[in-house]
Amino acid sequence: MDYLPIFIALKDSSAIVVGGGQVAHRKVEWLLAAHARVTVVAPALAHELAQLVARGAVQHIAASFAPEQLQHAALAIAATDSAEVNAAVAHAAGNARVPVNVVDNPELSSFIFPAIIDRSPVIVAVGSGGRSPVLVRRVRAQIEALLPAKLGALARFMGERRAAVKLALAPGGRRPFWERIIDGAVGSQVLAGNDARAHEAFASELSGSGRRAQVGEVYLIGAGPGDPDLLTLRALQLLQQADVVLYDRLVSDAVLGLARRDAQRIFVGKEAGDPHNAQARIHELMLHHARAGLRVARLKGGDPFIFGRGGEEIEVLAANDIAYVIVPGITAALGAAASAGVPLTHRRLAHSVTFAAGHALDDESLDWDSLARPNHTVVFYMGVAHLSRIIARLRACGAAADHPAAIIERATLPGERVIGGTLGTLEALAGAAAIAAPALLIVGKVAAFARAPQSSAKRVEFASAPAEEVPA
Ligand code: SAH
Repeated sequence: MDYLPIFIALKDSSAIVVGGGQVAHRKVEWLLAAHARVTVVAPALAHELAQLVARGAVQHIAASFAPEQLQHAALAIAATDSAEVNAAVAHAAGNARVPVNVVDNPELSSFIFPAIIDRSPVIVAVGSGGRSPVLVRRVRAQIEALLPAKLGALARFMGERRAAVKLALAPGGRRPFWERIIDGAVGSQVLAGNDARAHEAFASELSGSGRRAQVGEVYLIGAGPGDPDLLTLRALQLLQQADVVLYDRLVSDAVLGLARRDAQRIFVGKEAGDPHNAQARIHELMLHHARAGLRVARLKGGDPFIFGRGGEEIEVLAANDIAYVIVPGITAALGAAASAGVPLTHRRLAHSVTFAAGHALDDESLDWDSLARPNHTVVFYMGVAHLSRIIARLRACGAAADHPAAIIERATLPGERVIGGTLGTLEALAGAAAIAAPALLIVGKVAAFARAPQSSAKRVEFASAPAEEVPA
């Protein structure tokens, strides 16, 4: 180790920053975040620093650097664009035994700034001893993605309860207790921002003193349209915690592969058994595993609340007093639109968009007149099997034969196909291409944008309107 990473308490200590530009400003912000009393030494200040001075947040010495300015300083930073001034600061700080950092110059520095991941009070510092700032930035980005945004809240939550736990539990029981808090319902509820739920779960853990929690919890996770890169960070975090994963047919293997290696994976798609009982079986499995004290990920394609029966599942969980977390996902319409380059709304072409269930044809729950309006976009889920009836219905409500429409099959997945056409042509095109589920139908002027995905890895079946018909 060339450097010892240590955390310095700077609260109310004096820190000197020499330099008045952007770089100095960034350092000043970090020092202020650590509650230091900051003095900036510079003949002139850039805008942001001048504002901090005007607000009284930092002191300003409007002069050139002089060694006596370091008196009483707990640390010094040289951030000017003059190598001479920076060297003078380093030299003076050395004489005065004040720790000094010269920006971008480890040789002259007695300490260096790490890259910081700030989930205060949890702080992660990353450094390469000045060897590769680019690599350090990359590592930092990876850690950023790994750590939940509310990690600091969890640390505070636990910190506030340390004394109570110390009183309630014998020393040997404390560590396993805290591990259960982090891994279980308390941790996931704090990280999801459900403080009241977290508080309740904590109280029940503490009164159960030391035993494994009797009741687990359920994460209702939107897995997105298929491409694992479209998962949210929270989905990934919870997926990696879950002991049991209940997944549908629409969840891609790539997403499922992100679950913990030793998690039990249970397929609960309609094909898994009697389709009429499939939903009841899902409810049973969720309750069964949660009651056994396990963390259950209920992983659904797209978003759990868009044609996903997520509403029914949380009713069951609530009625049975099982804690749950809902994680939104990118619904198929949004994934498909992005992948095929279709803006679902457009200032000139579509002022509203409807997500409709394409199999709800026989009842009157859809307002077909409004779906057929020219400046409206409709995305039909579960509609390809009913394509001809959907088109007939829209045409009967006044939609023109040349009204653009597109089908996106296996959106965001390998083998994605895009078929562009019009209400008059689409059925024949889809038939010729033997389009199969999962696929979406997009109807509206914006559908003329539909383009096969860029990636050559994806198969292309494209027969859209001629280029001049594509809205500019
Ligand atoms: N909860 C899901 C939708 C479930 S309904 C979501 O928010 O996306 C199932 C329908 O979604 C399918 O019939 C199909 O129309 C659509 N769908 C799901 N994934 C898809 C994909 N990758 N490509 C195209 N359509 C998809």
